[in-house]
Order: sequence, then structure tokens, then C-alpha cells
Amino acid sequence: MSKFKLPEKRNVKSIGGFHGVSAIFPKFQDIIDYEENNIYVNRGYPRFVNHPIVSVLETEYKQKFNAVGAISCHSYQSAIFLAIDFFFKKGNKIYFDAGLPLDYYNYLCNKFPRVITKSNVSEADILVLSSQNGTFPNYTAGKINIGLLGTDDLDDSNKSIKLNLLIRHDKKNNIGIILIFSIRYAMLTILRRHTGFNVSSRKVCSKAISTEDKFGLEENLKKTIANLEHGDPIKCFLYPSGMAAIFATIISLFSEKRNQIIALGSLYVDTIRILEKWPKKFGLPETIFIRKSFIETLENSVNDNTAGIILEFPSNPLIQLVDLEKVVEIAHSKGVPVIVDNTIATPYNFNPFEFDVDFIVHSTTKFLSGKNNHIGGVLLLKDSNTSKKVEEFTNLANLDMNFNDIKVLTRNIRNFNKRMKKINENCLSVARFLENHNSIKKVYYPSLKSDSNHKLMEKYLGGGGGLLSFVLKESTKQRAEIFYDNLHSPILKGPSLGSEKTLLSPYVIMAHYEDSKEELENLGFDFYLMRLSVGIEKADEIIKSLDHALNFSN
Ligand code: PLP
Repeated sequence: MSKFKLPEKRNVKSIGGFHGVSAIFPKFQDIIDYEENNIYVNRGYPRFVNHPIVSVLETEYKQKFNAVGAISCHSYQSAIFLAIDFFFKKGNKIYFDAGLPLDYYNYLCNKFPRVITKSNVSEADILVLSSQNGTFPNYTAGKINIGLLGTDDLDDSNKSIKLNLLIRHDKKNNIGIILIFSIRYAMLTILRRHTGFNVSSRKVCSKAISTEDKFGLEENLKKTIANLEHGDPIKCFLYPSGMAAIFATIISLFSEKRNQIIALGSLYVDTIRILEKWPKKFGLPETIFIRKSFIETLENSVNDNTAGIILEFPSNPLIQLVDLEKVVEIAHSKGVPVIVDNTIATPYNFNPFEFDVDFIVHSTTKFLSGKNNHIGGVLLLKDSNTSKKVEEFTNLANLDMNFNDIKVLTRNIRNFNKRMKKINENCLSVARFLENHNSIKKVYYPSLKSDSNHKLMEKYLGGGGGLLSFVLKESTKQRAEIFYDNLHSPILKGPSLGSEKTLLSPYVIMAHYEDSKEELENLGFDFYLMRLSVGIEKADEIIKSLDHALNFSN
């Protein structure tokens, strides 16, 4: 008998209602089972777990085209970009026919000349073919064939050609579907997760709307966010996710000459993955990750090839700060832009443009929305030339925020200041409690006087924000499990952050399960690190739940 066991389906409860962007994992073992592929879940964070209605749509496409899998993307153009980008690896010979693929080819080749060779049909490893009325030119099989199908249905005559990928435009939902005909391309789902080109469940539920309606609401939302960030609404871009905003920033910054990114401090896992994978694929110099002695190391690392310096303020999950003024000074002395992911501090506590930062990105899924029922991202920048570069990529991949997510964010952002005031107060109370608890080894929260970043916190932040991390004194699987399993309401046990509801997750297990011991050491992560995103409930009640779980022994 084969030992191979298919994962079991586990129904979990969503946090945030029907379009909720988190889900409850009641037991510690559920997380381990998820990471070990013993179970799969019906709900979760949307870039990781498809929303049920997105799954239904993908299954319908898979069956209709007799494909091994279907991967939905925010737009037809972003689906094409994802597929072409996948093969845009050093050494590949590609044939493109006219139309969109040629635009992508030109865009990528301008940035990264000499990565791939454009070749004629007979010598190409990869053929990218557009359909005409549902049929494709019948070139020789045996190579990788990518078919681009508009809104047509496939003609029967296509049965003889071997397509490896077929990209379909679903006009009704205004999304793209990548149909895969071999399991080896299933890894495109991972790339979609990194790039954040996923389809929001709200987009699939959209009724047709007029462009004027969307435009008005979109412009107002940009004004609101630009106002909060002291930026310019004209240089403000909305995205389907925070990762899409980050990916658009990074890809727009690369040029032939400036081809290396420097990353400072701990970063969200998918930002790390983009910075690890894309330079390697394009044959560019590897990203420099600076994890200690920030300023000295940065001074020695910035050079004429640096494309940008990226950091989170404070960082996820170690809640680190850097001396941003010095970072900007060093960067600008070499003409290098600085990108700050301000998701965690939020504009309530910090405005990076006041320190001459060049790009601000946010996952609007988090504190700006605060309700766990929206996914999106935003990018604001200062310089008009760079803005044009971002616009070029954003338009090419047709990335925006769908109408329903704009509507929900517009509603949720109204209470942003009030929510953040309470979150700041609560989080400080909770951090003080944890700091003094004898079952806690370390708390990461810069508002605490004992935190190594406290001076920087006083220099830069108006308040500590809602995210903290901590390590249990006895940081073992058994102790982590007892702590986790004994948490009770109002703390919810699920991924994501920035909600008005308090969320706890063993972040390293959820985001870095596969990393080796050395990698974790390098990142400065304890495997059982707990991350807590504090909400607006009564601080006493949050503390009561933590105290109960910390004191519980069996
Ligand atoms: N930036 C930070 C600091 C994050 O914590 C996250 C996600 O957790 C992201 C970016 C990505 O945002 P999204 O999930 O909206 O793509």
C-alpha cells in the first residue's frame, strides 16, 4: 500500500464575514497539519487560500477546458504577464506573435536585455501564440506552447495542438484564467501569491458598473489616502493587494544599470520571496539583505547599481525600526530611492514623506481597512518620472483595485483615526502586561522603554501601532501548543493583522515553516514566535485571555 495520503478537507470559520480575509485555526495542531499538507482548508488568507467562490469559478474552467488546473488572476493582462514572466528566464528562446505578448516582451527586454532570446518558430523553446476566432496556428508540438485565448471558445481544430498553458479572458468578471495542462505549472499559483495578482472574491461578485461610477469613487479614495500620507493623489496607485503594490514598485525600479535592491531588516515573507526569486531568474545581482548594523552595512553596500532600498517601518514580524533619516541621506547621496512599507506604523503614527522617502506602500487589507473584509494595496510616490514608470507597468498588467473593494475600503477608512487611537492604547497596555509576565522571554514592541528600538520609536513614531511579537520563556512545541490552545475570546486565532479584532498567529510557523534552522537564525526568528495584532476590544479582556493561556499548565 502506498503511504501517500491525500490531504483532508477541514472547514474553518472565516473572520470578517463572507468576504473575510482571515480564518480561525482553533488548535495549534491545525496549523501544523496545514503546513504539513495533511489538511486543506475551505477559507483563509486570500492570497494563500482561494475564496470558495473563486474556487468554484476555477473548477468550472478546469472542467470546461479539461485542464489539470486553473489559476485565476486579477486581469487577463496580469495573467499573461505572470505566464510570460515565468518563462522569462536566462537562456530561454522564445517566439512571440503580435499583440500583447509582444508588448510584454518589449517591456521586459528593455529592462532586462540579454535575459532571453527572441527566436523564430522553429528554434524556439517556448511559443506564445494568440488565437484568431478560437483557433491557433498549428506549429510543431514538442515545445512549450502558450496559447492566448480572448473571450472566444476553443475551436475543435485545436485538439491536435499540444498547449501547455492556455490563458483565457473571462470578460464577465474581467479577470484572466491560466489553464495548465501539466502539474509542473501548478507552481504558477505560488508566483501569483508572491505577485499578489489574485482575484478578490468581491470582484467575482461585482455587478456591472459604469466607468464613471468607479472613477469617482477611486479618485476620492486616492485623495483620502494621499491626505493621510501627505502625498499627491495624482501619484497614488491602487492595487488588488499589498503584494501587487510591492511587486509593481520593485519591477518598475529595475533598469539595466540599476539592477540590485537592498532590503533592510525583517520583511513580510512574500516581499522576501520576490527579492530572492526575481533577480535570480533574470540573472541580476542578488538582493542584499541587511539584518543587523543597518547604517554601517548600508553605507558599504549602496552603489551606482542600487535600484532601491526597501524596508518596513516597523518591520513584520520583529517590529524593528531603522534610523530612516540616515537611510535616506545615504540613499539619496547615490541617487537611490527609498521605499517604505508603512502598513504597520500606519499614517496615524508615521508619515514617511516627511522624511523625504520616495515610495510608500501599504497593504490596505490591514489597518487602513481594519475590518478583515477587504483586500488591496496602495502605492504613493513623489517623483513624476518614476510615477510614469510605475504607471507603465500598472497599465500593462491592468492592475487596479476592483470597485467593490474600493467601496468597502472607502467605508472602512472613515473610522481609521478613531480605530488607531484605541489600537495604539490597547497595544501598549498589552505589551506592558506581556513584558512583566514571568512566562515571557521577550516582547518586540518599540514603545516599551526596554525595547532596543525605543529611542528610534521616540524619534519617528507618534504611537507604537497595533502589532507586537513575543517569545515564550519556554519556547517549545509543547508550551506553544498549550498557550495557543488555551487562548479564548476576544482573541481570535488566525493569520493576518491590522483588524479591529485581536488576532494571534504563530507567525514563523505560518510563514516560514519550510525554512531551515540556519535560515531562521539568519532571519533572527524563534520558530515559535507569536505575533499579536491588537484590536479595539477592552484591553483588560485581551490581557485576561493572554494571562489565562500563559498560566495554563497541564
Ligand atoms: N506588507 C506587510 C508589512 C504585510 O504584513 C503584508 C501582508 O501581511 C503585505 C505587505 C502584503 O499585503 P497583501 O496581503 O495585502 O498582499
